[in-house]
Amino acid sequence: MQAVYIEAHGGPEVLTHGERPEPATLPQQVKIQVGASSLNRLDLYTRNGDRGLQREFPPPLILGGDCAGQITEVGSEVRGFSVGDRVLVNPKITCGQCQACLAGHDDLCPKPQFMGSAIDGSYAEAVAVPAANVHAIGDDVTYEMAAAVPTTYLPVWNMLQRKIQLKPWETVLVLSASAGVGTAAIQVAS
Ligand SMILES: [Zn+2]
Repeated sequence: MQAVYIEAHGGPEVLTHGERPEPATLPQQVKIQVGASSLNRLDLYTRNGDRGLQREFPPPLILGGDCAGQITEVGSEVRGFSVGDRVLVNPKITCGQCQACLAGHDDLCPKPQFMGSAIDGSYAEAVAVPAANVHAIGDDVTYEMAAAVPTTYLPVWNMLQRKIQLKPWETVLVLSASAGVGTAAIQVAS
């Protein structure tokens, strides 16, 4: 499959467009034909090797976390998804076995792996991800819209809805409100 990957850290010049093997679909995974993939600051940190994201090469790493697309293959243990479903992907892959994951608080998993940083990501024609990381999207939501959601909106939803349960009459101060997470926070709080 076609993909954009890196074989060394650096500026945009290290981005390489070429062939990479298509991922196999494990029993608990679905394979997705990527319709859109978005760019987050994390992708730039990974490309540069900043903020503790240095890694050994080879093998090459396909960048990209957030994405949306259509399911093309369903693992043998997956229920609730079918080929052809339109979905978005939460790129934070958690262990599914620790206390936090088993309690339904996988956002607190101490051993998450981010697609495009720790493992191959979504700057590719296809990704294979755990079905637990996949969410169906409506027909009126484009892949571009859906791919812009996970990395920015999930932490915001966690903070403003699940943790502090923001009420309509309350006021919040959003720092860095021009960045992706800050923009999402304004929208969720509005
Ligand atoms: Zn876990």
